[in-house]
Amino acid sequence: MQEISQIKYAFFMSQENKNLITNYSSAKYSWLKSGGKISHLYKIHNQGDLINLVNEKEINKKKILVIGNLSNTLIKDEGYDGMGIKLFGDFASIQINSDYMLVGAAVLDNYLSKYCYHHGIYGYEFLYTIPGSIGGNIFMNAGCYNQEIKDKLLSVIFFDTKDKKVYEKNIRDLKFDYRKGFQKKNSIILYGKFKISYGNKNKIRELMKEYEGIRNQTQPQKVNCCGSIFKNPSNSSAWRLIKSSIDESFYNGPIKLSKIHSNFFENDPNISANSIDSFISKIQKRVKEKHNITLEKELRIID
Ligand SMILES: Cc1cc2nc3c(=O)[nH]c(=O)nc-3n(C[C@H](O)[C@H](O)[C@H](O)COP(=O)(O)OP(=O)(O)OC[C@H]3O[C@@H](n4cnc5c(N)ncnc54)[C@H](O)[C@@H]3O)c2cc1C
Repeated sequence: MQEISQIKYAFFMSQENKNLITNYSSAKYSWLKSGGKISHLYKIHNQGDLINLVNEKEINKKKILVIGNLSNTLIKDEGYDGMGIKLFGDFASIQINSDYMLVGAAVLDNYLSKYCYHHGIYGYEFLYTIPGSIGGNIFMNAGCYNQEIKDKLLSVIFFDTKDKKVYEKNIRDLKFDYRKGFQKKNSIILYGKFKISYGNKNKIRELMKEYEGIRNQTQPQKVNCCGSIFKNPSNSSAWRLIKSSIDESFYNGPIKLSKIHSNFFENDPNISANSIDSFISKIQKRVKEKHNITLEKELRIID
């Protein structure tokens, strides 16, 4: 693991913490439109803010939760009383170098995909349809259409909140797996270094449109949801297992399974996060009873 010079990354420290939001509503900003409050959310715009953050006395005492675009996270109704962290500014930028692309963790997938199209860089079309951020993608090893973020990654640059240093770790030394990416404790993913290959812009555009078309046909649109609820177990599909284990009642009510894709649920806005959690547990129980398989959640439920 390579440690990156603190000096190179250290900016000026500001005196006051104007970047703190108290009682941040996850229900307001999450894709589920549900979830408890984050008692203290720190907005990090640059390395200077990071240094201010580590100077906060709380950082060594409290657990931390970095949030991206909240497309795969549900915070339970009781809320999160650790330190919430959200990246902005410098971490929402993309820089193209001769042999790699440096992408900030706060960059949204759809934006990166469009950016790559404009620069004639191919291989990022699949991100056009995922509603997360690069940080969330690297954490989850997000993917679709037989592609995963790990296939594109060269290295991950992250901040370790315990020893207060920035590190770069090569993808060769990381054990990414299906929906399991860089999940190192006490770490804030800052950037990903990504591969670059140039291609035909029309073909890139066509592929983006093709993926969008598939998505529109096979998944519910314009509803509150989190994407897939469960990971697919090896050799089977979560949706098939769910469909064959539940009854019609699961397709009705304020939290209901989607008739288009039974590994998706749709919920009314501001529904209690704990009732979503119970709904998910009920599905899990049914599948276990019918198939003796315990489905593993893809959705991150935080308490
Ligand atoms: C409609 C819909 C469709 C979806 N389709 C897909 C799909 O096809 N494929 C797929 O893989 N996923 C899909 N998802 C799920 C989701 O978009 C991905 O998991 C995405 O990678 C999450 O990114 P995010 O920024 O929203 O992460 P969040 O939900 O904000 O966070 C997810 C996890 O990542 C951690 N995290 C986020 N940023 C950082 C950071 N900078 N440093 C450290 N940890 C961090 C969080 O702590 C949390 O544990 C879908 C979701 C929706 C709503």
